[in-house]
Amino acid sequence: MAIVQEPSEALAPSMPLSARAHVGVDHCCALAEMGDLLVMLAHDDLSITAPDAHDELIRIETRIAEGVLGPDEWSAFERSGSPSGFNCPDCRNVLFEVRDERILRFRCRAGHAFSAQSLLALQAETMENQLAALFGSLHEEAMLSRRLLGTPICRDDAMSATLAARIGKAERDAARIWQWMCNSPEPDQQ
Ligand SMILES: [Zn+2]
Repeated sequence: MAIVQEPSEALAPSMPLSARAHVGVDHCCALAEMGDLLVMLAHDDLSITAPDAHDELIRIETRIAEGVLGPDEWSAFERSGSPSGFNCPDCRNVLFEVRDERILRFRCRAGHAFSAQSLLALQAETMENQLAALFGSLHEEAMLSRRLLGTPICRDDAMSATLAARIGKAERDAARIWQWMCNSPEPDQQ
């Protein structure tokens, strides 16, 4: 049974919209109505049907979410997917592409799970963090070089020229990185 929150009231509307697009959704309702709906469904008659391959995937993924999956089940889960060539943005483990015809999604050995969209957004965030770190390093290089210029260590013209050139290059590179960061499109966090 799949229930999604009414997208118009969701903090991140693209999440319920994505679920509606990729999953056979049984109910779509406001968060305030979801409790009563769950109570009603819990009292419903349970019709038992034979599990199919998708049910088995859900069973295994539920156990991953509960943190109780055994090594044998992990192996079965990995065999059912394929290595994606991507790393998990959270733990850097290899991400496996989950065999799910409804949606392109991934999961790592530590259990972190991503849709293609959320992985793309996190990759953009990682790149932004690395650019920010690079910007900081270049700024520090220029600052330290400028400090050195005013000390007795810098006693000849050649060293002064080298430091001045280094300051100029670090500041130009930092300005380029800053411009790149400012012009990068915002990753879709939803
Ligand atoms: Zn991970």
